[in-house]
Amino acid sequence: MSLIVHKYGGTSMGSTDRIKNVAKRVAKWSRAGYQMVVVPSAMSGETNRLLGLAKELAPTSANLAYQRELDMLASTGEQASSALLAIALQAEGVESVSYAGWQLPIRTNSAFTKARIESIEDQRVMADLAKGKVVIITGFQGVDEHSNITTLGRGGSDTSAVAIAAALKASECLIYTDVDGVYTTDPRVVPEAKRLLTISFEEMLEMASMGSKVLQIRSVEFAGKYKVPLRVLSSFTPWDIDLKEEASSGTLISFEEDEKMEQAIVSGIAFNRDEAKISVIGVPDKPGIAYQILGAVAQANIEVDMIIQNLSKDGKTDFSFTVHRNDHAKTLDLLKNQVVPELGAAEVVGDTKICKVSIVGIGMRSHVGVASKMFKTLSEEGINIQMISTSEIKTSVVIDEKYMELAVRALHKTFDLDQDKA
Ligand code: ASP
Ligand code: MG
Repeated sequence: MSLIVHKYGGTSMGSTDRIKNVAKRVAKWSRAGYQMVVVPSAMSGETNRLLGLAKELAPTSANLAYQRELDMLASTGEQASSALLAIALQAEGVESVSYAGWQLPIRTNSAFTKARIESIEDQRVMADLAKGKVVIITGFQGVDEHSNITTLGRGGSDTSAVAIAAALKASECLIYTDVDGVYTTDPRVVPEAKRLLTISFEEMLEMASMGSKVLQIRSVEFAGKYKVPLRVLSSFTPWDIDLKEEASSGTLISFEEDEKMEQAIVSGIAFNRDEAKISVIGVPDKPGIAYQILGAVAQANIEVDMIIQNLSKDGKTDFSFTVHRNDHAKTLDLLKNQVVPELGAAEVVGDTKICKVSIVGIGMRSHVGVASKMFKTLSEEGINIQMISTSEIKTSVVIDEKYMELAVRALHKTFDLDQDKA
């Protein structure tokens, strides 16, 4: 029978009642004959609580010794929920055993609080599965080459589940969460947003990095790399719903592009308010200016997203780019104190009241005029576009933050995402 990985988020594991529910659901799958591996998150709020305790004792620091202890601490949240789930399953009459990352082991590098998985040993798991046991594996954590416990970054249980599914060659990885799938856009902004039955990995990557917070982005990269079929679905359906119905609910993140042929050219509208715009005005237009500006920014470890350089006029040009909002002040300081004097530019100005809105869809590869339809919609709404960037399957614009919801709603309508798909 096929091997399935279930992942349950913090809300799904939030109380002993909820854990009981998860156990009943997993027991249903196990009794239907599937080999079951389950990866739980810590009970909701637990990771924050633990990290908060550390902060009470000492303020956050980049100190390695401190970072090591944060991982030692935070990893206990998942260890507790895993053991509780194993106990709940045993109470349901299902043989079950839980493992912390180090017990398999799940090997990672030594980057505390943001470690990357390097390998997963599957022998113990396979032996237990062969005996008919349900195997619970802690999410979010692993062990480095010096036997230090590491964690994978906030939201990292998604990545654990996908990595485990890849290592065990599972037929599917089901991510149970508090939403029932991936939507065409955030339903809080557009109530008409529709759940997508399927979305391709590439689209999901673009949507996830844009602020649709359903999955940790690294889990999607991992799934793409190892071709793990992923499904996002609700853990709030009754545990005893028909298994077939449950198995096809939610949103499948897949490689099957064929079945998408009939679907919309644009699959979703993503947006975020996390960026800020920096403009260097009156830069002498000569070779090397982009390097002088962005080189200094990169050296300060600041990530740049969109970039535009205007046409030059009288030998001068304007140069604008976006950075994360948290890096806005730092970037301005750097440019004002170091780069602008060296370049002889007139001034540098920052703008945090911007947002980025993107249309995403693999259909854009084979259709022309999609971007212009987007620009037309925005112009009809009287929204000024400040910056544009495109990739094969995405067009993004930077606009004034105050028009974000208007833009998202208008685009959602323009690309027929309000319509029910047959
Ligand atoms: N418990 C961890 C967190 O809160 C990992 C996870 O839930 O995915 O970030
Ligand atoms: Mg999560």
